[in-house]
Amino acid sequence: MDYELSPEQAKMQRDIDAFCRSEIAPRAGILDACPRSEVGRRMKENLKTLARAGWFEPGHKENSLDLVEVYLAGEAVAKACPSTCLSARASAFLCAGGIRTFGTDAQKSAYLPPLLRAEQIGAFAWSEPQAGSDVQAIASTARKDGASWRISGRKDIVVNAPIADVILVLAYHDAQAGAEGDMSIFIVEKGAAGLTISDPLETMGMRGAPISTVTLQNCEASGILGDIPGEGYVQHRSMLNMGCIGVAALCVGVGTACMEISNAYAKERTAFGKRIGMYQEVGFKLADMFTYNDLGRMLALKAAWAINTNDPEAPVLAACAKLFASEAATRIAGWGMQIFAGHGYLAGSHMERLYRDARFGEICEGTSEMQRSLIARTELDRFLQAGQADSGSAFVA
Ligand SMILES: Cc1cc2nc3c(=O)[nH]c(=O)nc-3n(C[C@H](O)[C@H](O)[C@H](O)COP(=O)(O)OP(=O)(O)OC[C@H]3O[C@@H](n4cnc5c(N)ncnc54)[C@H](O)[C@@H]3O)c2cc1C
Repeated sequence: MDYELSPEQAKMQRDIDAFCRSEIAPRAGILDACPRSEVGRRMKENLKTLARAGWFEPGHKENSLDLVEVYLAGEAVAKACPSTCLSARASAFLCAGGIRTFGTDAQKSAYLPPLLRAEQIGAFAWSEPQAGSDVQAIASTARKDGASWRISGRKDIVVNAPIADVILVLAYHDAQAGAEGDMSIFIVEKGAAGLTISDPLETMGMRGAPISTVTLQNCEASGILGDIPGEGYVQHRSMLNMGCIGVAALCVGVGTACMEISNAYAKERTAFGKRIGMYQEVGFKLADMFTYNDLGRMLALKAAWAINTNDPEAPVLAACAKLFASEAATRIAGWGMQIFAGHGYLAGSHMERLYRDARFGEICEGTSEMQRSLIARTELDRFLQAGQADSGSAFVA
């Protein structure tokens, strides 16, 4: 067993980390605090800065995604600015990655070059006011209109929608909505007639990422992802499963940032004549922060490797990684807040921003409850199969 990154992976990790520390981290607080009307323009600048340096490319291979690279880049960007990571992954992973994995050659050549240079920004819209975890309950439908498709529906929380040039939209493709096989992911371009994007929404955390509601009224789609109707449900599940790695990376990045600033604070702050890090109660918190974060990273890298190698365990490992890393981020941010105490609670402090950002992981792209359900279902299947095998052999005996 070899836990080492390859020399190329380790170099990529060092380079993107150094780049994000100098170019992205200094803007994190500004993005969080700026008026909603400015958030789109500011984030677009950040995404272009990342893409110009080649940092939208990690993970993109000829016809597939390398999830280890996706993880390494995601953690480094998130450590510098979680909102930038959220926005970058919505474009470079959820949208461009979806096109990379499922798009036709024509779709890849039309959309991937501008998306990976951040000349165009992408988004992926599936959840709706009445349907988040229960994707089959979406109400958006598309009807055939000659050679094209027209979509009607409402998607209520879509990262990058205010700045998006390309939006992947999950919808049923007939009025008899309900069956998995009747869903497709449609490609909708900025400016399409019938497409309305709301003003950026207010959110508790991740305030630097532009998020809005997308309304489609008989809106013309430019095509179906992969050009095969009926694949949308499976494509969506696959993207969200691979997406667990990116969300885990985001959470570990937040955790690492919390650890770094808490560690520095514990060395510098004094109480009762001693640096607070010298008190066991504070030191234990730092130890737990490190342990939880490292476990999240290990689970995520193992799951990423399992996806890259088509391991049949990959879906459950990815769910475990997302579940653990996101709950760890919430706890780590809580410990960090406790170390900073009153000064962490002040609005505008790094700790306060990270505490708000950390809470996102347990909710998005498959809540903790949904990840636990998937893991339990898989384990229960194994348990039942093992039980059948046992009873079978007992019968033979
Ligand atoms: C910052 C942010 C960014 C987002 N970005 C996007 C985006 O870019 N595109 C997009 O389409 N969506 C996006 N979302 C929406 C996100 O994917 C949903 O919020 C998420 O999937 C959960 O859905 P919901 O909020 O509708 O909760 P619900 O599905 O209504 O769940 C409510 C509660 O019930 C629980 N629950 C539901 N079903 C079960 C069950 N079977 N068993 C046990 N518990 C259950 C849930 O775990 C949760 O605790 C974003 C959300 C946030 C907060």
